[in-house]
Amino acid sequence: MRIIIVGGGVIGLGIGWKLSRLGYQVALYERNQVGRGASWAAAGMLSPLAEAHTQEAELLRLGLESSNRYPEWVRELQEESQIDIDYRRKGTLMVALDRDDRADLQHHFEMQKSFDLPVDWLTGNQARTLEPALSPRVVAAIHCPSDLQVNGRLMTTALTVAFQKAGGKLFEQTPVTKINIKDQQVTGIHIDSEFVPAELVIVAAGAWLSQVKGLPKSYQYLIRPVKGQILGLQMDTEPIISHVIYAPDAYLVPRSNGSLVVGATVEEQGFDTHLTAGGVFELLRGAWEALPGIYEFPIVDTFASLRPASRDNAPILGLTPVDGLILAAGHFRKGILLTPVTCDEIAQLVLTGIVSEVIKPFNISRFETLNLS
Ligand SMILES: Cc1cc2nc3c(=O)[nH]c(=O)nc-3n(C[C@H](O)[C@H](O)[C@H](O)COP(=O)(O)OP(=O)(O)OC[C@H]3O[C@@H](n4cnc5c(N)ncnc54)[C@H](O)[C@@H]3O)c2cc1C
Repeated sequence: MRIIIVGGGVIGLGIGWKLSRLGYQVALYERNQVGRGASWAAAGMLSPLAEAHTQEAELLRLGLESSNRYPEWVRELQEESQIDIDYRRKGTLMVALDRDDRADLQHHFEMQKSFDLPVDWLTGNQARTLEPALSPRVVAAIHCPSDLQVNGRLMTTALTVAFQKAGGKLFEQTPVTKINIKDQQVTGIHIDSEFVPAELVIVAAGAWLSQVKGLPKSYQYLIRPVKGQILGLQMDTEPIISHVIYAPDAYLVPRSNGSLVVGATVEEQGFDTHLTAGGVFELLRGAWEALPGIYEFPIVDTFASLRPASRDNAPILGLTPVDGLILAAGHFRKGILLTPVTCDEIAQLVLTGIVSEVIKPFNISRFETLNLS
């Protein structure tokens, strides 16, 4: 069976890797360079505990499942690519800087406990014992010890190598201009005037899914872009923190190479990806309030990209009413976290034809128009 994947972010590359390992002929088309979309911007936090939300129980379950698969995913990926993706198991500290924040955090903690998540409440002093560089203003914290992290850029690079080593064919600077659908069946794709036949097309085009031509009209409104600006600072020779720190207005993610990622804005600005003075200022202010020691650090990286968000902020995974068309998009703020579970489950779907219970709740059918008559 000839399989085409549209989009070379972590999701497209990861699915391509898994399918190529299973022996399928996979061609992946990327309109730019692989991994330079949202995947390049990602801070790489794997934080199902810190990012749990009351109304997102299914998504929490998916995140925890993916997090459980991370150790094996990293082991295989590093072994096959020979690239270290900076997988760290240091946990997250969510901090409060005043009484309002503490009340918010207390509410979050109670919600986490109601899901039976392994988290601990700390006083400001206890938080500073774990991370001495935290501001004296920190009055309380939640410790999420099992949250993980990777370097998203290194993971993208490792996936590119592993995909090609497994036999996958990669076409960069090659936009898919149209997906060909005839009588509710995919027949292939167009690259300008060239037609490339395929029995199965997997669309992993991230925030740009709505711009892929040839898909059913209603898919134009499935995914919206949500802009995120993010910065990289360079720590002194000694890392200033070891945990991921979630402050009220910014998060800080230390890397093993001494860089410190500060993120991220969440903006509804359509397809605009400019860095703005206000965005950068707010991130630095939010980071500095929690960790004053960053003041002298050089800024070594800035980036902005678009998170792919669906209407309910959960991904859209699996079969569609069109035969031979699979979607894997809409991972919003959790695409790096959800990569292992997405890629494993989509590869198993292709292999067996069976939609697993794990991804069943995330099918496109949940957006079918509600019939009120
Ligand atoms: C600032 C920021 C911080 C983030 N931090 C985290 C984090 O800490 N943890 C986490 O889990 N997630 C995080 N995310 C979210 C995560 O980055 C995304 O959910 C994830 O990268 C989505 O992966 P993707 O492969 O679907 O999309 P992308 O990486 O955007 O890849 C889609 C690709 O499709 C290509 N494409 C589009 N249309 C076509 C076409 N017609 N033909 C060919 N190619 C096409 C694009 O060029 C692009 O390369 C963050 C995102 C941002 C922006």
